Amino acid sequence: MVAPTLAPDRSVPAAGRVPARRTKLFALPEIRWAVLALVLFTVGLAAQLAGVPQGIWWALYLACYAAGGWEPGLAGLQALREKTLDVDLLMVVAAIGAASIGQITDGALLIVIFATSGALEALATARTEDSVRGLLDLAPDTATRIDAVGKETTVPAADLGVGDELVVRPGERIPADATVIGGGSEVDQATITGEPLPVDKARGDEVFAGTINGTGALRLRVDRRAEDSVVARIATLVEQASRTKARTQLFIEKVEQRYSVGMVAVTLAVFLVPLLLGDPLQRALLRAMTFMIVASPCAVVLATMPPLLAAIANAGRHGVLAKSAVVMEQLGATTRIAFDKTGTLTRGTPELAEIRTLDTQFDDDELLRYAAAAEHPSEHPLAAAIVRAARARGLDLPAVEEFTAQPGRGVSALVGDRFIGVGSPATLLPAADGSAESAAVEALQARGYTAVIVTCEQRPVGVLALSDQLRGEAAAAVTAAAALTSAGPVLLTGDNPATAHRLAEQVGITDVRAGLLPEDKVGAVQQLQADGAKIAMVGDGINDAPALAVAHAGIAMGGAGSDLTLQTADAVVVRDDLTAIPTVINLSRRARRVVMANLIIAATFIGVLVIWDLAGTLPLPLGVAGHEGSTVIVGLNGLRLLRAAAWRRAARLG
Ligand code: ADP
Ligand code: MG
Repeated sequence: MVAPTLAPDRSVPAAGRVPARRTKLFALPEIRWAVLALVLFTVGLAAQLAGVPQGIWWALYLACYAAGGWEPGLAGLQALREKTLDVDLLMVVAAIGAASIGQITDGALLIVIFATSGALEALATARTEDSVRGLLDLAPDTATRIDAVGKETTVPAADLGVGDELVVRPGERIPADATVIGGGSEVDQATITGEPLPVDKARGDEVFAGTINGTGALRLRVDRRAEDSVVARIATLVEQASRTKARTQLFIEKVEQRYSVGMVAVTLAVFLVPLLLGDPLQRALLRAMTFMIVASPCAVVLATMPPLLAAIANAGRHGVLAKSAVVMEQLGATTRIAFDKTGTLTRGTPELAEIRTLDTQFDDDELLRYAAAAEHPSEHPLAAAIVRAARARGLDLPAVEEFTAQPGRGVSALVGDRFIGVGSPATLLPAADGSAESAAVEALQARGYTAVIVTCEQRPVGVLALSDQLRGEAAAAVTAAAALTSAGPVLLTGDNPATAHRLAEQVGITDVRAGLLPEDKVGAVQQLQADGAKIAMVGDGINDAPALAVAHAGIAMGGAGSDLTLQTADAVVVRDDLTAIPTVINLSRRARRVVMANLIIAATFIGVLVIWDLAGTLPLPLGVAGHEGSTVIVGLNGLRLLRAAAWRRAARLG
């Protein structure tokens, strides 16, 4: 028996083209064969009870064997050639054994129930796959494009290019990730955010492919091609994750092999020992076969993956991408959450608040112009803010050469013939020496600003003060994180201690570590983990990537996050909603609890039935029903985590 992983489906075309679908019951071959086996069994039983000649109902039962048993039997034989013992094969052997001692009705019943549980398992896997693929179905196939003269044409959504203009009428699905350039409406974004209330959208707002337009009409400009859209990215990552196996599962599969071999040995003993002690052959054989069936670890094998896959699919629908089953399993073990500051707890779109020149050579505009020119190639949020401020003042930026960036420190470049540096006071000011620049920096930091120094030819020539806004949900997310973990959250930032403490106080974090370079963030995470914590590190920037890599679980903010960070992270919060982080950790915990419950259910059934068979007389049909029943219960139990209610409950921290 092989635990389900989601097979890659090569038939899935690019986002936006898949018609909505849900796997039909009879589309699954396992279900067709199981139904056929059931029909043959029922007719055979009727014939047997009606007293028709024995040859006829035997033939019907044997046909039932073939319908329900050929597939697992064949797969089992193939596995045997690769020297692995498949428990499916043991089931078929047991059924054949039953027939050989004249118990063909019991054997056929075993085949029917066995085929039915296999069919249910296939259905469960297909449903999980559907829910992943359903993400792609969200985006509509076509879009209404408007050209320069205002003419409307219907085009395939997959052909839309960045910059195309679209109209979306009331009630239509939005065909691409885009910005509103006209009109206004309320948009139901539940498909990707899970948020049930529609969100008002007006000029300048972002909308996402697959969300549903409300009562207004919208004019949009496309921001991303179909394959780069948020839904497409979610679907790809979730599908990749679904193909991985969790640690528990790998362990179980390793143990399963030895267990199966041991089980066969015990089965032989159960058969031979009573026989030698004088039991009749028939009785000994029946007991041994019942033993083999009820001791098979089918339910154990099915305990782990369905809950984790379901949790991955569910989190994916709510904008949190866990990159593998291992990650989904690990997230729940988090005992402490570490947050980066800029771009993670704050929006990461700071604004220039003040300019202080320290040198008569530069006036405000000149200072800003040079600083912005040097920052222009940088991806850092502070750099973007400085460039925006310069543009807002209508300053033109000279070209730069020899640009270098040092993550967590700052940048430098040759602007014209001047060597300009922009970066943190800790890097660019030798020491707090009571100089004019140190005093200016301290005064600004005391007011909660992030101060950056501008240098010319290594000499400080000015200070820029920037302020960033907290994300709206930051405090709520920190509170939830604190409630979820025994040790409170910790703030790890490269920014100065004064600003860091002010912000920490606003969101309710007491453990603050400021002034950290990227390698210091790594050190801080390692030290916390050496003290026994399992850290989930949340960050956005290149400077966070190394810390994300060493943390127990690295979580990247997807909206603002750099590519490197997205690649390094174990999980990505696509919609930049911080509260999704405690929720997904809680969902993972629930998944782990379901796995544990499944393992207990499976072990209990096996234990009780085995003892019953060995110590008393367990009728074969009852053994079959108990064994297959527990397999089905375990399989369906895992799929509960697929429901939207599972995410909502995790969000309530229940
Ligand atoms: P955080 O850890 O809060 O996300 P970073 O590690 O990215 O912050 O940056 C730490 C500090 O380094 C910033 O507060 C700033 O002083 C300085 N810095 C980093 N990159 C730049 C840049 N491109 N321009 C100016 N200052 C920078
Ligand atoms: Mg950051």
